[in-house]
Amino acid sequence: MNKILVVAELDQNGIKKSTRCTIAAAKQLNSTIELLIAGSFAPNFAEEAAKIEGISQVICDANACYDHGIAENFAQLVLSLAKNYTHVLAPASSFGKDFMPRVAALLNVAQVSEITAILDDSTFIRPIYAGNAFAKVKSQDAIKLITVRSTAFDPANNQAHAAPIQTIEAKFEDSRVTFIKAETQASERPTLENARVVISGGRAFQSKENFDKLLEPLAEKLNAAIGASRAAVDAGYAPNDYQVGQTGKVVAPELYIAIGISGAVQHLAGMNTSKVIVAINKDADASIFQIADYGLVGDLYQLIPELTEKL
Ligand SMILES: Cc1cc2nc3c(=O)[nH]c(=O)nc-3n(C[C@H](O)[C@H](O)[C@H](O)COP(=O)(O)OP(=O)(O)OC[C@H]3O[C@@H](n4cnc5c(N)ncnc54)[C@H](O)[C@@H]3O)c2cc1C
Repeated sequence: MNKILVVAELDQNGIKKSTRCTIAAAKQLNSTIELLIAGSFAPNFAEEAAKIEGISQVICDANACYDHGIAENFAQLVLSLAKNYTHVLAPASSFGKDFMPRVAALLNVAQVSEITAILDDSTFIRPIYAGNAFAKVKSQDAIKLITVRSTAFDPANNQAHAAPIQTIEAKFEDSRVTFIKAETQASERPTLENARVVISGGRAFQSKENFDKLLEPLAEKLNAAIGASRAAVDAGYAPNDYQVGQTGKVVAPELYIAIGISGAVQHLAGMNTSKVIVAINKDADASIFQIADYGLVGDLYQLIPELTEKL
């Protein structure tokens, strides 16, 4: 009988949607699912965790050394529990991508990364070549370590009953790592991962000033999250956590608007499963138009103010 451990991604604001998506993937394995929540704020969300559909037990560790998702600490915590399970699943977010490979190395197993579908309890589909192809991967390891692409699974809902909550006190604090500070963008608008609408800007904005001046009012009108191409991030127009793509975030909103973005394959890897894609570009031959449902050919400096005003 399979037994799965899902490692929850959470912070002081709550359990992240990526956790519910990972649980939805775990449910497809028809197994017992236990959910690990860790951090000093974890007890605040234990009851909520216990009500997520499919969870048969919550394991709660309230040690503050897990507050900032430090991979070295999480790797040891998960390693200490992993031998009780046939599968360990975590979201393929920065959090999961950071600690899971460490657990895989310590257990000497091959991680199956960023799965988008489950065929059976050892066979999975995952993107390769920046999402240009999908590989069928069979794992023969006794403990299967898997990260889950959140956009491929709808988040698990709540169940009628609450699962039991087990408290553990395991403190694995790596003395070589110190948390200094987290720099996050405070915004009233939805986050990139949760937004129904994402507007992304590219190199064409030419400066941070233009990027903010043109995109902020449009995002405000559409209640959208702002994303960026890597070129825009590298040039300092937008912060790192705005980056969409192969080496950034993977998003699949209902509406994705790419403005002044050429459509490099590495950018498409992060947004090509969006439901409706709109592209604004002055070059009618830009490759972004090949995947766009709607295209607007023209100068963004003229089109964005016009669009913002009309909305
Ligand atoms: C290993 C690797 C990983 C990478 N990971 C990522 C990733 O995660 N995300 C990512 O985005 N990229 C990534 N890249 C970079 C990627 O290859 C491209 O270089 C990048 O996406 C280009 O960004 P861009 O479209 O903003 O810029 P450009 O390719 O320079 O395109 C700018 C576009 O703006 C248009 N334009 C210019 N002026 C205007 C105007 N006034 N009005 C309207 N349109 C205008 C141009 O026609 C052009 O199409 C990666 C590359 C590598 C090698």
